[in-house]
Amino acid sequence: MLTRRRKSKRDFSCGRKEEKDFRQPVDAMIQPPPGPWDISATTPNFFVDNKQQIRVPYTSSIKPCHNCVGMGRKPCNDCTGAGNQMCWVCNGSGFHIGNDRCNHCNGRGRNNCNSCNGQGSKMCDMCHGKRQLLVYIRLNVNWTNNTEDYVVEQSSGLHVDNISKVSGKELFRDSQYMVYPLMGFPDASIVQASERLIRDHQGRYSQTSRILQQRQTIELIPVTRVTYSWKGNTHIYFVYGNEFQVHTDDYPATCCCSVM
Ligand SMILES: [Zn+2]
Ligand SMILES: [Zn+2]
Ligand SMILES: [Zn+2]
Repeated sequence: MLTRRRKSKRDFSCGRKEEKDFRQPVDAMIQPPPGPWDISATTPNFFVDNKQQIRVPYTSSIKPCHNCVGMGRKPCNDCTGAGNQMCWVCNGSGFHIGNDRCNHCNGRGRNNCNSCNGQGSKMCDMCHGKRQLLVYIRLNVNWTNNTEDYVVEQSSGLHVDNISKVSGKELFRDSQYMVYPLMGFPDASIVQASERLIRDHQGRYSQTSRILQQRQTIELIPVTRVTYSWKGNTHIYFVYGNEFQVHTDDYPATCCCSVM
């Protein structure tokens, strides 16, 4: 038997987002920004993990770029801002051994820096030369599917870990904003598990997140136990689930098998 729950969560990102698109409105200080739970997010598909990022209204402002101190350019690291570098052919002397003039630097001893084309500085890669940044608070919304299973094993001898991995015939399905504990199901342990799982999820997630949708299903998973003889000894194997998974604890031969 499987019961499944679903909840969602959102939290404010503490960092600030910098970007170079100035078409977005500057709206900080117009009015106080809304709290994280007051901002509406697009409802995603139910029971699928999802993430959204939302620019919080009334937090956008423009500030000078901190990376280039508002200059739009940064000194080139390769030439430390000089725009040229020592010639590696003549080690800066301008001459080869034997007093021939160095062809590589035409006797200057230095060459233009390739990295900055001799300018000594490069465009700032944070503001792309615009000198300013749009700064705002970004809300990260995380939708998380929290699933829990309760498995009742009915004396087949197959370990419950195996059963959890397959699907079965669906006997019951309930999906709504908040599901209710099962009533009147023949197996009392499943009724108890339903009540416990719903209470657990309520306690665990309602404080720090909001529930978007819950779903509860009961599946009947068929398990076939097969007893067979091999070289005078008796062995068993199991076939289970809609997927016809096969499991055995003591398969007697490890090669040359054929499935009939
Ligand atoms: Zn040279
Ligand atoms: Zn340079
Ligand atoms: Zn910059």
